[in-house]
Amino acid sequence: MRLAEQTAPQIKLLLAILGFLIYPSQQVYAQSLKVRVIVTSLSPARVLVEAEGPLADTWSFRNVYAGISGLGYRVESFKVAAPSEAVSVRNLAPGEFRSSKEVSTFSYELQIEERARLAELAHVSWINQERGFLMLADLLPRLGRKSLVPSPVTIEFKLPAGWTVASALLPDKNQQYSVANVDSAVFYVGRELRETRVRADSMDLALVTSGDWAFVDSDALKIVSKIIKEHAKLTKHRLHGRSVVLLAPFNGVVGPERWTANTRGASVVLLLGRNARGRALLARLGVVLAHELFHLWVPNGLALEGDYDWFFEGFTLYQALLTCLRLKLIKFDDYLDTMARVYDSYRSQPDHDKLSLIEASERRWTAAPSFVYDKGMLVAFIHDLKFRELTGNGTSGADIYPQLFRAAAAGTGNANEVIMSILNRPAGMNQFFERYVQNPGDIALDATLAPYGFRVETRDFRTRILINKKLTSDQGKLLRALGY
Ligand SMILES: [Zn+2]
Repeated sequence: MRLAEQTAPQIKLLLAILGFLIYPSQQVYAQSLKVRVIVTSLSPARVLVEAEGPLADTWSFRNVYAGISGLGYRVESFKVAAPSEAVSVRNLAPGEFRSSKEVSTFSYELQIEERARLAELAHVSWINQERGFLMLADLLPRLGRKSLVPSPVTIEFKLPAGWTVASALLPDKNQQYSVANVDSAVFYVGRELRETRVRADSMDLALVTSGDWAFVDSDALKIVSKIIKEHAKLTKHRLHGRSVVLLAPFNGVVGPERWTANTRGASVVLLLGRNARGRALLARLGVVLAHELFHLWVPNGLALEGDYDWFFEGFTLYQALLTCLRLKLIKFDDYLDTMARVYDSYRSQPDHDKLSLIEASERRWTAAPSFVYDKGMLVAFIHDLKFRELTGNGTSGADIYPQLFRAAAAGTGNANEVIMSILNRPAGMNQFFERYVQNPGDIALDATLAPYGFRVETRDFRTRILINKKLTSDQGKLLRALGY
């Protein structure tokens, strides 16, 4: 019995592979869904979704995503199609529908107006007169009373005249997309989308954008490609297949200091203010993408469980900052200024000494959206310095990443446990995880940084991190290794 249970998934997988090879158009999955998304109006922005899938009597749409609530209210005119008899549908709650009988065909309309808050534009579906993003995570329902995720989803689009669609997935000859993971599927739709492609390391990279920018697309793609190569080197882990950066401008006069981004699966969605010169735009693009593209590896390329946002946001942000320094996208002063700003942001949060990084990661969107970034980044900074000092600059904080990929490849596990063992392993680093990640506690940056030749000054609530005039030879070596 036990043996049979263990073998069954392998046989299923084998059959699926064989089935795929022999009958590519006849895959049969219990939860597969066929979907047609029709943009029926741009003003107001509305789509009609027609779907056919397994028998179900309950459909649940996401009501909250990334802290954005009330998404279920956007679903209207939910209808089911039953061939012979009348079936009634009740709206149980926002985005929650139940029919009197199980059916396999249903349709609904979705209002997808452009979000008023710029920060939300990278996280949920919207369209305006020119372009937009369709994200299946909030566009499609979970099915049945067990809220099963439909997979695979075969999807096709009917867009306004002159509009096209682009995504990390490529369509088949009938312009249909097969989506294995609904939550990571993002489709960029719009007028005059442009795609430029390059092969970088082991990956096929594409930049998709629309609208006028003060730079040429190929220059932006060059930066993307450089960052990808740095990340591949740092993680010592190669990613394969196609990844895309889906870049869109904010409407109106907005500068590049305003941006919002989100990385799902192999897609980086980035909205950026474009009101600046080309150089300034490219510099901002590089800094933002150094972090976002890292998410293709961490967490998206790691099969680890648990809430470890403190690591994949905070530590990753810190490594991205060092990547920017290496690529000369920023100067050493910018690096120190960034860490000083992060420290001020951290200190300005009322519970910064009462919340641990683990707790903050568990309730990232509700309790402390910026805490995981701020404290996570500070802890990464401290870890990097300590580790460089311990090993006489033989290694750095970046050394965690190859170890993490090796550990994850050995089998799935709890991310926090895996990272704890990596952080605490070197002699001299024991209890690092407990001190900085697991337990709450304040970070006094001046005392922490003093041994490395830094001086921390705070005036008028603004911190500056300075370098002492006189440095020991070890301090000088460490700072030079950092990029000073
Ligand atoms: Zn991030």
